[in-house]
Amino acid sequence: MYCRFCTRSYAVGIDTEEVEKVNLKANEERWKQAYAYIRTRPELEDIVISGGDAYQLRAQQLEDIGMSLLDMPNVRRMRFATKGPAVMPQKILTDDAWVDALTRVVEKGRKLHKEVVLHTHFNHPNEITGITEDAMNKLFERGIFVRNQSVLQRGVNDAPETMLLLVKRLGHVNVHPYYVYVHDLVKGVEDLRTSVDTAIYLEKHVRGSTAGFNTPVFVVDAPGGGGKRDAHSYEYYDRETGISVYQAPSVKPGEYFLYFDPLHQLSTHTQRRWQDPAEQQVMVDDALSKAKARLR
Ligand SMILES: *Cc1c(COP(=O)(O)O)cnc(C)c1O
Repeated sequence: MYCRFCTRSYAVGIDTEEVEKVNLKANEERWKQAYAYIRTRPELEDIVISGGDAYQLRAQQLEDIGMSLLDMPNVRRMRFATKGPAVMPQKILTDDAWVDALTRVVEKGRKLHKEVVLHTHFNHPNEITGITEDAMNKLFERGIFVRNQSVLQRGVNDAPETMLLLVKRLGHVNVHPYYVYVHDLVKGVEDLRTSVDTAIYLEKHVRGSTAGFNTPVFVVDAPGGGGKRDAHSYEYYDRETGISVYQAPSVKPGEYFLYFDPLHQLSTHTQRRWQDPAEQQVMVDDALSKAKARLR
């Protein structure tokens, strides 16, 4: 399986016509440098093991990473990120060494009162089969909690019925629907992006259909390092130009973060404005000044 929409597609697979790939192989020397860094930063409490896929780690590597992090007093929580359960749930039913290694890390964490969970990536209800259910039941019986992060994709999961069924099936296999992302600005996948407006529309349909704690948060991860923002929480959103403006007071106070709806969802007139760099600047400046005018 090759996810061309992946926000980390810059490091997955071989070079394509669009993207020259970064090589990020499992590298124990690099991990040691990461451990040394994490150990010196008491504010690092929550560690995401990602940027590759935990499914690709050998059992021993997974256990080494987990135990090394659990050893650090500052580390309180960690998540192993993997697309695996949505692609190859069979591994969980057959690769005992891998599942046992994960179980040992989770159990050690539990004794230390530290949370170790799995984060995965189902996007569509059709990805959840009877095999998925068996695999997730096995993890559930071992007390391994799984959260899901979906990516909104046009024509794939951007209809209310699809998102409602996804959330229902995730709940059925005890996977917590944590986030639904508005698609990152990934090169070469404009056809798959949706607007902030679509995310807000979907959230409205999903909320109320099940328990509040099983309702995903629809988020925008705007460029610039402000982190994920609740799609609803924009300071200003112009549905005509497709520009939304966010703030992240606890991450980067005083800064503004912009997200841009895909051009194909805008009027022909506005699409033409986006072709002109001077007009682009006018639209961006207008959005920023209106966001800044929203005084508290
Ligand atoms: C999503 C994400 C995290 C974790 O964010 P949470 O809101 O705590 O789930 C951390 N680092 C990066 C780069 C991320 O994209």
